[in-house]
Amino acid sequence: MTNQQLISDLFSFIDNSPSMFHTAESIAKTLEENDFTYLPNATSWDLNKGNKYYTSTNNSAIIAFEICSTNIEQTGFRIVGTHTDVPGFRIKSNPQMQTESYIKLNTEVYGGPILATWFDRPLSCAGRVALKSDNILRPERRLVNIEEPIMVIPSLAIHMNRNVNDGYKFNPQKETLPILTYCDDTIKEDMLLQIIADKLQVNKDDILDADMFLYPTEKSCSIGVDKKFVSAPRLDDLSMTFGGLHALITSEGKAGVNVLVCYDNEEVGSCSKQGANSPFLLHTLERITSLLNKTREEYLVSLRNSFIISADVAHLHHPNFPEKSDPTNKVLPGKGPAIKVNSNCKYTTDSDSFAVFANLCIQNGIPYQVFFNRSDQPGGSTIGPITSSQLGIRSVDIGTPLLAMHSARELMAQDDFIHTCDAMRAFYNLD
Ligand SMILES: [Zn+2]
Repeated sequence: MTNQQLISDLFSFIDNSPSMFHTAESIAKTLEENDFTYLPNATSWDLNKGNKYYTSTNNSAIIAFEICSTNIEQTGFRIVGTHTDVPGFRIKSNPQMQTESYIKLNTEVYGGPILATWFDRPLSCAGRVALKSDNILRPERRLVNIEEPIMVIPSLAIHMNRNVNDGYKFNPQKETLPILTYCDDTIKEDMLLQIIADKLQVNKDDILDADMFLYPTEKSCSIGVDKKFVSAPRLDDLSMTFGGLHALITSEGKAGVNVLVCYDNEEVGSCSKQGANSPFLLHTLERITSLLNKTREEYLVSLRNSFIISADVAHLHHPNFPEKSDPTNKVLPGKGPAIKVNSNCKYTTDSDSFAVFANLCIQNGIPYQVFFNRSDQPGGSTIGPITSSQLGIRSVDIGTPLLAMHSARELMAQDDFIHTCDAMRAFYNLD
């Protein structure tokens, strides 16, 4: 596959994955096309050496794995971890609000988006709906993507707030609500619910609830005079999710069990049954081990011989805000994936796991660089520390560096993404 094809596949993946549910669906589709067998989480499994499998939970988190060899007590699991969710807005229940003739939607902020970047863009919504079902404990779950730009969050004219360019704190209950339309009458019926019901061809009374998220409808593209940058929504963390997936399906899988885990809810702290703070990975690894007829002792030994690459995006040095970077570790475009380090364990990297990833890059001719926050900036965290501390597995935090992280549209260097994919594939190819 050429690099251009890889980037074009990344764009399709992102544009077809407007919510965490659609991300999981896109991953599953690619896995199916590459001979991975689906294992429903709530049934008993059968596994065979040389085969490839995946399981999912909540329609929004996925674990895919390939059994390359069964001596996992010696080789361990080679795990790449990413996340499927994205900061933005979730639509509340009973969302419709009428102000004069405007029809608006009541939303709640999900995670930490840069709010100003959501204004004046064509927006749509996508997510999952739960329908009435004869089985009370198992509502029917359906994904829905409205696709059309049906709403917008308009800015206030500068003439009505002359100080807006001096910095402004938005009120998320009042000032970031999207407008659906206007009309002269008082509208009682829920317009969005009807749009969703029409899209799914169901009766709107059968929809009991929905997890619907806003998303900008502009497509991903290459940008810059020589198109060396990628401009796209949701690069955090769909770029690493796609990269990990691509690495898994194109690797040769020589030893141990190669695992890709894509968690949900990283942007809100990972505390859910589908987040990194759940037993999803722990239980899946234990199930794999026991189905390969290993003892619990052998399972625990295999964890000690495993390694995790926690792949979430990093920060590029910003040319307009140079003072925001660490003075001796500036991350620049085109210089490869960043190894992320934090002395207070917000990242899992230590000198041991740093050396593993650095060696992997050096031996495969892949450039890499180092990211630290400034010592006076707290910075963010990711799934790495939670996953690694739950399992006791050695782990490194890495990622393709971005500008504008958590904007509705983020920016990365194409070469850095390709180098990160190469590093993940080299990891899965280890013997
Ligand atoms: Zn992230």
